[in-house]
Amino acid sequence: MELTVKGRFFAPGGLREGSIRISRGRIEEVGEEVAPGGEVLDFREEGKVILPGLIDMHVHLRDFELSYKEDFRTGTRAAARGGYTVVVDMPNTLPRVNRISVLRKREELGRRRAAVDFGLYFGVPEEKGELRKEVGKRCLGIKVYLPEEGEKETLEETLRFASRERLLVITHAEDPAFFRGKERPPEAEVMGIRRMAELSLRHRFRLHLTHLSSSAGLRELERWKRRVRLSADTCPHYLLLTRRRDPLFKVFPPLRTERDRTALLSGLREGKIEVVTSDHAPHLRAEKRDPDGPGGFPGLETELPLLLTLVRRGELELEGVVKACSEVPASLLGLPAGRIEKGYVGNLTVVDLKKSFKIDPLEFESKAKYSPFQGRRVVGSPVCTIVRGRPVFLDGEVVEGLGGMNVKAYGEAG
Ligand SMILES: [Zn+2]
Repeated sequence: MELTVKGRFFAPGGLREGSIRISRGRIEEVGEEVAPGGEVLDFREEGKVILPGLIDMHVHLRDFELSYKEDFRTGTRAAARGGYTVVVDMPNTLPRVNRISVLRKREELGRRRAAVDFGLYFGVPEEKGELRKEVGKRCLGIKVYLPEEGEKETLEETLRFASRERLLVITHAEDPAFFRGKERPPEAEVMGIRRMAELSLRHRFRLHLTHLSSSAGLRELERWKRRVRLSADTCPHYLLLTRRRDPLFKVFPPLRTERDRTALLSGLREGKIEVVTSDHAPHLRAEKRDPDGPGGFPGLETELPLLLTLVRRGELELEGVVKACSEVPASLLGLPAGRIEKGYVGNLTVVDLKKSFKIDPLEFESKAKYSPFQGRRVVGSPVCTIVRGRPVFLDGEVVEGLGGMNVKAYGEAG
């Protein structure tokens, strides 16, 4: 199975013109003069650029008993259409992925039904006995959802396990002790970061703060970076939106002020925030009309166009997007991906930087056909998504049949 992709591509050192040949799932050759092999996809057209395959470190594919909101198939079809080659699934499912038996089922579901490749996080278990080597074989990290898991005794045990097994700890860092009724002020985020960073100092695990939402949180993050191994991501909604009353915009942590928004955008530009994730969190439309309903909304199919629009406006560099959505996630998760270089996994995302359109949620592959970005004009769009040398999104269509691979099976580069 071979594929040759032609066009302008993002290589270490900058944009180059040439071809990429992928053979048996790996990049075999990259350069100006590459002997074509297998099928040839030609993107040598004004405005089109080939990027290393994008990786989203924070996605809720739901499924199991919540499959009415989203399932592995629809969620990963949304990823393919959104330009994402790998999505990492959160364990707050029903039942939760915090037992080995559920983890195995989850992996099997992904293998059978996913349209792109996937990674898994393990949740903090109820029983210490679940913290076995197998977790590290099947998962990329441990998700700690502080609002719920703050008091559990198994938390510290789990963190020591993560440290021993060299698993990333990815945290929703809001300390519920600082919530005021329904309000979740920035200080809850600051204190959540502090608490997790102190634990990381004690147990020496690698800590990743997901969906950073406030300028105060960003300052706290910067303070801890000198003492612990710490990285962070934010999401397009924190980079582009501010507080609204409409429950559709409800998300945790909440949207904040214009000052927070611009601080996060600068933080991303300066590399203080290393990653962008979607926090793709689908719910039923009816659930989102309820002011007391759940937080979150779908994001996989709007993330890349929104980021490319920021590039178009000069607020981000294309190189910054590649770093935040591919290169750094690959390195944090220990994957031989995120680079267009011989020996790396043959995952590519082709974008058209000139394609302008209005976001229409009715076109989403996700079951959640609404968005806080509905009607927004964007410039820049994924046009082809390639996973292990196979196009899974091309000419506006998602192509299934490849089956998903747990990225833990990628092995090393080379
Ligand atoms: Zn989430």
